[in-house]
Amino acid sequence: MTLNTLNRSCTKCRGAPSVYYRPYSGERLCAACFNDSLFERVKKTVGKYNMFEYDSRIAVGVSGGKDSLAMLRLLHELERDRPYAELVAVCVDEGVKGYRDEALSLAEKNCSELGVEMHTVGFKELFGETMDVIAARDRELGTCSYCGVLRRRALDEAAKAVDADRLATGHNLDDMAQSVLLNVLRGDAMRIDAFRPGGQSLEGFVRRVKPLCEVPERETTFYAYVNGLEFQSLPCPYSEEAMRSDVRRFLNRMEVKRPGTKFIVYQTGLKIRGRGDGGVLRRCRVCGSPARGDLCRACELSGRTE
Ligand code: SF4
Ligand SMILES: [Zn+2]
Ligand SMILES: [Zn+2]
Repeated sequence: MTLNTLNRSCTKCRGAPSVYYRPYSGERLCAACFNDSLFERVKKTVGKYNMFEYDSRIAVGVSGGKDSLAMLRLLHELERDRPYAELVAVCVDEGVKGYRDEALSLAEKNCSELGVEMHTVGFKELFGETMDVIAARDRELGTCSYCGVLRRRALDEAAKAVDADRLATGHNLDDMAQSVLLNVLRGDAMRIDAFRPGGQSLEGFVRRVKPLCEVPERETTFYAYVNGLEFQSLPCPYSEEAMRSDVRRFLNRMEVKRPGTKFIVYQTGLKIRGRGDGGVLRRCRVCGSPARGDLCRACELSGRTE
């Protein structure tokens, strides 16, 4: 009885009742200590990878999902102590009727609550067609492969349009660990080599950073829940049962059996990367974007050759 009562109080402040259990560290946290610990984790990650300058103009990729909205809140709190830094939210409208409209209105609501300016770019204006049109066509690759490549380009364009010097994306620890395993399973050594949570500086391009890269997805979800964030939970109608889903399920099972697995896989990605030359990028012959070959993936997929 006594032990149970002790177990239920927060292991950090020892006063408030705990609401979250962290299997990989054994901590039981109250809501306030949970929020503090997540904030400290992000702050430490940002410092470790030198993600921002004291006066960075940071474009925050916001989709309306829990990860990006949690990131927006945490960065907003972090940048409060840096009067010269600025945040601006950048959103991509892929043109998926019903799905993206709801996400964008949730993004807008969160941005206006925080007083963060929001800038949206659309597939239609950038690439001439919406994802609904692309999805209805015969294609060489799956819908999400197209969407992922074009979305990445759209975020780059949006970050440039708002004159940002950093682009923060909401990839969490689960996303990072999945990417390491996926690249191993695909035998894609080049991509492992480019595994950089702090991004790479390349002239003419906004450096990408991933401030949530060491926060498990379960914790971004709990953060959204405990802080009452309204986020989109409907899945995209085109989401596919791709290889990533198999890897996600496998990692989730392993994490339950052996807490800390995702972090180990992530750390392994960093170690493997350290052995390469940093995945030196070339420039696309058509648009000048970073590319591993003659053309970037966005030009390849949209058939642009000149
Ligand atoms: S699920 Fe696929 S198609 Fe839908 S928004 Fe995500 S990447 Fe795009
Ligand atoms: Zn506490
Ligand atoms: Zn290109």
